[in-house]
Amino acid sequence: MASQENHANSSPDCDVIVIGGGPAGTTAATALARRGRRVQLFEKHRHPRFHIGESLLPMNIPILRDLGVLEEVDRIGIRKSAADFPADNERGFNVFDFTRNLENLPGFAYQVRRDEFDEILFRNCQRAGAVALENTEVLETHNSADSVSVTVRDASGLTRQVRARYLIDASGRDTFLGNQLKLKQRHARHRSAAVFAHFSGVERREAPWTGNISIYRFRTGSGQGWIWLIPLTHDITSIGAVLLPEHLKERGGALEPFLMNILHSVPALKMRMANARLHGNLEATGNYSYECRELAGPRWIMAGDSLAFVDPVFSSGVYLAMHGGMRAAELVDSVLEGAPERKLQRIYARELRAGIREFSWFIVRFTTPAFAWLFANPSNTMKIEEAIVSMLSGHVFDARRTLRRLRLFKSLYYIRSLLKLGETLGFRRELRGSKAA
Ligand SMILES: Cc1cc2nc3c(=O)[nH]c(=O)nc-3n(C[C@H](O)[C@H](O)[C@H](O)COP(=O)(O)OP(=O)(O)OC[C@H]3O[C@@H](n4cnc5c(N)ncnc54)[C@H](O)[C@@H]3O)c2cc1C
Repeated sequence: MASQENHANSSPDCDVIVIGGGPAGTTAATALARRGRRVQLFEKHRHPRFHIGESLLPMNIPILRDLGVLEEVDRIGIRKSAADFPADNERGFNVFDFTRNLENLPGFAYQVRRDEFDEILFRNCQRAGAVALENTEVLETHNSADSVSVTVRDASGLTRQVRARYLIDASGRDTFLGNQLKLKQRHARHRSAAVFAHFSGVERREAPWTGNISIYRFRTGSGQGWIWLIPLTHDITSIGAVLLPEHLKERGGALEPFLMNILHSVPALKMRMANARLHGNLEATGNYSYECRELAGPRWIMAGDSLAFVDPVFSSGVYLAMHGGMRAAELVDSVLEGAPERKLQRIYARELRAGIREFSWFIVRFTTPAFAWLFANPSNTMKIEEAIVSMLSGHVFDARRTLRRLRLFKSLYYIRSLLKLGETLGFRRELRGSKAA
């Protein structure tokens, strides 16, 4: 953030500026406005606007209830009772039912169209008293000894400066401060890109699993990855493939046949898409796995995707964004009351990084054979399956019981990997032996 002269003699325009009107920014702004803070939020687009990230987690439910929007979300969403993953059984998939969690968490979530969902959050934040402006882009930020200011440009092209006591960067994958302060770094162990679209006419699971998110794995001649299928309202289904960025880059042709080739490579999905029609445009996003080196500094803090994003396989993004938005609001409110900023920021960073790390452990291993086997053959010995359901529900913060059981799952994963390695080496030895014979 560029530094600027001291403004000790003039009072700031508001207490807190928020960059971005997605789930993280609107959650933080609503929570702060409800605590009596004067908040100005700037969103460069106008709601409703398309956004990817349509599958919520059960741990979103308490936050939606706190924000007072649960009923509205219930009206626009599809109830999601479970996530299903491929398995070698008669029906071809295993269901991780959210009611079978370890710690009495909400037993369901929602699948939502993000244009509708984000607009609900945005209007709710305005109703809470935040000044939330659309079509207003933050161009620059400046830090001074006693305040922070931003330069914003509105739809008519006019620019002006706004000054506050604190800044929350909730700019999503634009990572406004991450870029400005050069804090953004690629994720060390994960690289992904995605191609996705909405379709109509896609077959749904039978009740009670009609609202499930379905995850598939694929392997085509040139690459491998995974696919999501998310049922939305009005017979729309969101389907996307997540793959290595080079696979997407080197496709050598149009996006639509590329995506359809991947989707049709999975027989079970091809069947569900027998009557599918593309609805709207295809979208693609390049390598999106990153994390910022610092999440906070003097008078600023990041929340949501602006601080890190790894991969959407467990639909954790919106929950992490809203949880982070809530926690950032608590921190800012306390600091404005005189609480020690650095100490609270360290606690915030430790907590959020631990949650992201927990999801990352599962994400980076998701396409390995040992992981696929364990997810296809879940066992509730020592309540491990219930702990997995809790993790899939988003229960990774303040979740000691769940995390202890997840450690057992991780041990099983390492044992299974060693066995697989042993099998592969044994197979190679046999192969060499038979060639020699
Ligand atoms: C392929 C893919 C699939 C995904 N699927 C899921 C899923 O199923 N479930 C899930 O939970 N998550 C999913 N996610 C992740 C999810 O999209 C994000 O985690 C979530 O939207 C983060 O919320 P946020 O508020 O941090 O950021 P965003 O929702 O991106 O909001 C940031 C806002 O800031 C605004 N903004 C940016 N820069 C500026 C600026 N300079 N001035 C003013 N405004 C600005 C943007 O316009 C935007 O509205 C997926 C992500 C990808 C890439």
